[in-house]
Amino acid sequence: MNKSVTIVVATRNKGKIEEITRLLEPFPVNIKNLDDFGPIPEIVEDGNTFEENAYKKASMTARFLGMPVLADDSGLVVEALDGAPGVHSARYAGEDATDEDRCKKLLEEMTGVENRNAAFKCVISIATPPGPALTYEADCKGLITEEPSGENGFGYDPVFYYPDLKKTFAEISIDEKSSVSHRGKALKEIQEEIDKIITWLRQNMPVQERFECQRDRQ
Ligand code: IMP
Repeated sequence: MNKSVTIVVATRNKGKIEEITRLLEPFPVNIKNLDDFGPIPEIVEDGNTFEENAYKKASMTARFLGMPVLADDSGLVVEALDGAPGVHSARYAGEDATDEDRCKKLLEEMTGVENRNAAFKCVISIATPPGPALTYEADCKGLITEEPSGENGFGYDPVFYYPDLKKTFAEISIDEKSSVSHRGKALKEIQEEIDKIITWLRQNMPVQERFECQRDRQ
């Protein structure tokens, strides 16, 4: 298949890279991620919404690399914690904390709390270097467990119970998770519109200027 359009996934999170690459593999797009490039400036995710952060990550990375970029901003929104950890999901237990630390902190905050309702949210922005972007979003509702369970996935998966499957996201396979998850649903919308997205990307990519050298003219 001629994969003529390249899209860079703006993350170094292995879990996200695997989920996104797997879902876009069957399509005529060449998927790369930040590990395929040299160091690029860190983008501070200081927006108040998932939309702001996803667009900032996608558009700034696209401008820096001169290529179309897909960025996902996602997180866990817990009803009883007024929406926390929300946009701060990645840094909920401090800058150098691990996934395990974050799950532990969440369970501590939820000790004795009866309302366990929560949702994963995902906003995906696909941006071109000049700035225009497409936005996709989805969520997935579940419950916060009393203790972690399962080894798969990443982030808060071990403490996120998905009632329809009667398992946490860390107890199901990556394919099962993608069929119901926030990111899986947003990527499904992208899969359904992939032809339109490829056309849109071609139309919105700046035309490369070709500069003639003295030698070319001789
Ligand atoms: P960011 O989108 O890279 O800012 O980080 C989002 C954070 O939310 C991740 O580091 C995880 O802690 C959490 N998160 C997002 N999506 C998922 C998921 O599918 N499972 C578990 N945790 C997630």
